[in-house]
Amino acid sequence: MSNDIAATPPTIFRKDYVAPGFWVDTVEMGFDLDLHETHVATRITMRRNHDSAEKDLVLFGASLKLLQLRMNGVNLKKNAYTIDGEVMRIANAPDEVTLEIETLIKPLKNTSLSGLYASNGNFITQCEAEGFRKITWFPDRPDVMAKYTVMLRANKKKFPILLGNGNLIEEGDLGDGRHFAKWEDPFKKPSYLFALVAGKLVCQEENYTLKSGRSVLLQVWVEDGNLDKTQHAMDSLKNSIRWDEERFGLELDLDRFMIVATSDFNMGAMENKGLNIFNTKYVLANSRIATDVDYAGIESVVGHEYFHNWTGNRVTCRDWFQLSLKEGLTVFRDQEFSADLVGTTTGRAVKRIEDVRVLRQVQFSEDAGPMAHPVRPDSFVEINNFYTVTIYEKGSEVVRMYYTLLGHEGFRKGMDLYFARHDGQAVECDDFRAAMADSSGRDLTQFERWYSQSGTPRVKAETTYDAETQTYQLTLSQSCPATPGQDEKLPFHIPVAMGLLDAEGKDIALHCDAYSALAGATNLILELTEASQTFTFTGVAAKPVPSLLRNFSAPVLLDIEYSDEELGLLLANDSDPFNRWEAGQRLATRRLVKLTKAVQAGETLELDSMFIEALRATLVNESLDPSFRELVLTLPSEAMIAEEFDVVDPQAIHTARQFVRTALTQHLRAEFLSAYEANLTPGQYTPDAISMAKRALKNLALSYLSAWSDESTFELAQTQFDEAENMTDRLAALSALTNFHGTETQANAAAQSLKKFYKDFKKEALVIDKWFMLQAVADTTDVAKVRELMEHKAFTLGNPNRARSLTFSFCNGNPSRFHAADGSGYALWAELVIELNKINPQVAARLARSLDRWKKYPLHLQEHMKLALEKVAATKKLSKDVAEVIGKALA
Ligand code: ZN
Repeated sequence: MSNDIAATPPTIFRKDYVAPGFWVDTVEMGFDLDLHETHVATRITMRRNHDSAEKDLVLFGASLKLLQLRMNGVNLKKNAYTIDGEVMRIANAPDEVTLEIETLIKPLKNTSLSGLYASNGNFITQCEAEGFRKITWFPDRPDVMAKYTVMLRANKKKFPILLGNGNLIEEGDLGDGRHFAKWEDPFKKPSYLFALVAGKLVCQEENYTLKSGRSVLLQVWVEDGNLDKTQHAMDSLKNSIRWDEERFGLELDLDRFMIVATSDFNMGAMENKGLNIFNTKYVLANSRIATDVDYAGIESVVGHEYFHNWTGNRVTCRDWFQLSLKEGLTVFRDQEFSADLVGTTTGRAVKRIEDVRVLRQVQFSEDAGPMAHPVRPDSFVEINNFYTVTIYEKGSEVVRMYYTLLGHEGFRKGMDLYFARHDGQAVECDDFRAAMADSSGRDLTQFERWYSQSGTPRVKAETTYDAETQTYQLTLSQSCPATPGQDEKLPFHIPVAMGLLDAEGKDIALHCDAYSALAGATNLILELTEASQTFTFTGVAAKPVPSLLRNFSAPVLLDIEYSDEELGLLLANDSDPFNRWEAGQRLATRRLVKLTKAVQAGETLELDSMFIEALRATLVNESLDPSFRELVLTLPSEAMIAEEFDVVDPQAIHTARQFVRTALTQHLRAEFLSAYEANLTPGQYTPDAISMAKRALKNLALSYLSAWSDESTFELAQTQFDEAENMTDRLAALSALTNFHGTETQANAAAQSLKKFYKDFKKEALVIDKWFMLQAVADTTDVAKVRELMEHKAFTLGNPNRARSLTFSFCNGNPSRFHAADGSGYALWAELVIELNKINPQVAARLARSLDRWKKYPLHLQEHMKLALEKVAATKKLSKDVAEVIGKALA
């Protein structure tokens, strides 16, 4: 068609996997570190893999200057090898090979933040997924595992700290103002786990004694001036170490474990062996700069990366299609870690609700769009685009289903078998499933479809009750919509945890024909494996209310018709806290959908008293954990409401949701005020579960109160802002002030507070990110305001955290403004994607995904979106990353 659209980059298929032609035994590297030009010398010992169909010796390289290539001591002539793109082939290599390679790289010029790059004058590496090839030519694929010894040399003044994987075995001076450090990693690893860090850093360190009595050195490295912000990361690390010993019997296998924080990072953090590298966002915290949400994020990411040491590093992925093998499992582990740390039943439920909210809002949406892919994809263009909520969060749900099906002990047995079989290997998702099946004796053949089929399954529940025979029948039917490349789906193996409630809301003892061994239980896990199945319950004295998919036992959409009364009963009584919350969300969604339609039809908006009273009862119920009440009182997001519509009208949704917020405040003002007063946390800030829960409810109350504009609530917010002693309260107050729909005087006062906040925190990059983000999602912030903020001296697209804080937050978190009728939001989006594409393709591709669901909008918006998409598609030098996302959106 049009020839200005670049040729689509090639697709890589899972079915084309071929084992490497050569294995690597040892890798020795020497780095002469210089920010402009780093010299890398690598010696690799290799031996032929006689089982492989690949006969050539294949290496990968990117953005490298090759200085020297020797095979078994002999310089390789130009005609002894071929280079095509990133692939080098050496034909007719002998069975035993020692390669000596010298390359030159330019860290300062590397803005992609993949490979070896500079951050505030320090050296940082990022090698997952394919960054090692930007350091040297190498069989850069995860099934090639080797032992590494690394010599780092650099100017001692500029780079006093030199860190590598594993253990420090030697260090010293080189005499010429330079020094060296030699690191040896005793474990075989794939190249994507390689890391080095060099520069001016300081650390908090501690000797920690493992359960076995062995002592290990723990270090958290940060830039100078940040040592007062490392305690929480250190505590989280120690908690992680203890948790993995206790829950899974897994011990830290190194003498030293390091975390390094950098402000220039594409993702959250990286599990490099013994040398985890983190985005500062997931390390730095104290009460002055970090919110409760930040504290929780740090705990889970520190846990996540630490847990990778076994699930990812000791047992790794055969190829990148198996990414969820390590990511899904490790997310499950970090979710369980955080839940176990809180410990209480409600605490666990609160964590579960928060995790499910992300899954539904982001993953379900991904699964319904052009980038939908199975947990184990069949193909990709750019692997970096597949670090997705499907691989991570849906992958974790898949692991959780084994846990639900096999039980606590059964799951642990499966994990033990998995490590017994595969320690030191690079394996597939199927190997994990086999370990779960073989350790439990269960047939998990059908379960494989969770890995191979994309899309969110729908389960429809229909019930009948026969009073005469006291029999209750529950029919569950499943289906799954078509997704790209997958028109027809086969039934999944779905665990449906459930109970039945009587008229008082009490659990009924269950007698189900198919589960006679469990007669009398009040909670059953039904296994839905057919397209449709009927479960019969006997001895049911009166028509019950079903509570299905308890604790969200499977990543599906559940269609069930409830009356308001039934939902009210579940909200007030269900013994499963998840489903209590769920009932409240169903009540709210029903109303928000109706009101959105009323907005579109120009009708008057009204909120019924049943809903208001149900929420009132929850809000004032002091026997309920404040964080649970906070979740129930939080309305489904605009993105969640959008999922209820075939054609999305962002402004109508926004108006409807704002109306409900205001109406609730109007009726529950007194209750919100008492909740505010009752949940103050005076005294010194601590990020413990109880104080965090209180602050969450108190600040939710504040945000509701400020939806009903008057003098006293403005003052409440202003006072909280002025007197806050921690960032959680200060930011919540600033947000309330910024979103207050009040007088001009109040608007001016809010603007003053924003200014003051900036001034007070301008040296704290992570806080300035919050300052941008808060404004990006304010409902008064339109496209023009975003452009104005982009001109602010503190804004740059070159730093991923900063780019995300303003531009991503606006495009993804302010739908009613982003989807402006004139298409100005999309025009801005296109400019940003094109600009970012030049700097950092991975980050650009993430933003590119904001228009994934463009076909869900009214035609006049679609036209604007299509133009914006085509503008990006027509850009010269479009990265593989962006090209794949845009190509799939336009397909
Ligand atoms: Zn991970």
